Amino acid sequence: MCPVKPIPEPFRIKMVEPIKKISREEREAALERAGYNLFLLQSEEVYIDLLTDSGTGAMSDYQWAGLMMGDEAYSGSRNYNNLRNAVEDIFGYKYTIPTHQGRGAEQVLFPSIIKKPGQIFISNMHFDTTKGHVEMAGGRAINCVIEDAFDTEKYHPFKGNFDLDRLEALIKEKGPENIAMVIITITCNSCGGQPVSMENMRKTSELAKKYGIRVFIDAARAYENAYFIKNREEGYAHKSIKEIVKEMFSYAEGFTMSAKKDAIVNIGGVLAIKDDEELYKKCAARTVPMEGFITYGGLAGRDMEALTRGLYEGMDYDYLDYRIGQVAYLGEKLREGGIPIQYPTGGHAVFVDAKKMLPHIPYYQFPAQSLANALYVNSGVRAVEIGSFLLGRDPDTGENLESPMELLRLTIPRRTYTNTHMDVIAEGLFSTKEQAKTLKGLEFTYEPPVLRHFLARLKPVQ
Ligand SMILES: *Cc1c(COP(=O)(O)O)cnc(C)c1O
Repeated sequence: MCPVKPIPEPFRIKMVEPIKKISREEREAALERAGYNLFLLQSEEVYIDLLTDSGTGAMSDYQWAGLMMGDEAYSGSRNYNNLRNAVEDIFGYKYTIPTHQGRGAEQVLFPSIIKKPGQIFISNMHFDTTKGHVEMAGGRAINCVIEDAFDTEKYHPFKGNFDLDRLEALIKEKGPENIAMVIITITCNSCGGQPVSMENMRKTSELAKKYGIRVFIDAARAYENAYFIKNREEGYAHKSIKEIVKEMFSYAEGFTMSAKKDAIVNIGGVLAIKDDEELYKKCAARTVPMEGFITYGGLAGRDMEALTRGLYEGMDYDYLDYRIGQVAYLGEKLREGGIPIQYPTGGHAVFVDAKKMLPHIPYYQFPAQSLANALYVNSGVRAVEIGSFLLGRDPDTGENLESPMELLRLTIPRRTYTNTHMDVIAEGLFSTKEQAKTLKGLEFTYEPPVLRHFLARLKPVQ
């Protein structure tokens, strides 16, 4: 593999936010205070923050200018009209409901869809809040991604694809009447920001239609997905991102979107429905008590304006090329340095295979968390564990579940860090690799009953 050169930033910097690296001793003390859980650090204790790409991007001057154009009327805000028109123009959907963020759209939609308790939602891979809202609505979430997604070394251009044979077998086994809907998550966050091909989206949609099942898109990173289709799928090289997006969304009847990702705002979400008026009415009725009136859904008018502008800006090819190129640059650098990663890199993050790097730490002592902690102490870089620590326990037996992968996610915020920062991150991992054999697993000193990832306290196993 030839070395990837970073693609120069297609912007110049008009405003800066100082960041500072505290000393190694201070970082060690901070980590101990945080119970060896990086969620519990103070932001100021972090040098380069790769916890998430959600809401951490830098808005453009045009988006910031939009903030001054807020129409804060309780109903009928002109910013809502702009948002609705943008959704119709870009995605071809008639009904738009703003929500406070992606999970707001989920909590409005899923109970409006589900017909009886126990109904199944099938996705390539459910995002964690999506699974949470499916279950809160009385449904069950089943993942149906291709097996290749779990082989970090194997190249596949579309590792987020549905396993279509398994999908049909699942539908037949469970019975179409027991399936609430199929959710296509683009890109597939939980398996590494991996894309879904247009062909796979089309076939998934055809299969679902054949059995009368609804198809929705979890659209947080739809534009990054479109970029991969343009560059990797035959027949799309000459199409614009906007044309590709239009076709992708023609295969679904609605979407939920966290606008904190590809729409590059700090807060916001969207629920959109193509043309099903009855479903729209049900969702609208739930929106009012849950999110707010249907023309603001928990957002200020100014935030809707920034979101609308972000929906257009996020499709810019030069921006996407730089954005995904920056992630690939970091990934390639790590590979060259002998760090095992989910390959090829996805849209928003590089996922390091901690199982391979720390084979001496068993899953129930959370190897990726141990790696994250060492990386923080060595370099001030905060990454996040995506593995057995996140997965939690079997609700019936109380046993620690074993995740199929133990990953350290280096999530890259949009337009926030420079390519030089990528070099610093790589150096941090290289020095951590040197110590790999000496790193210890972790055990709980406090474990909350649910969502332990966020609030648990740990200590190194002696
Ligand atoms: C972030 C995300 C969500 C949830 O959105 P929030 O804005 O965090 O509520 C849902 N699905 C996917 C794929 C996501 O990445």
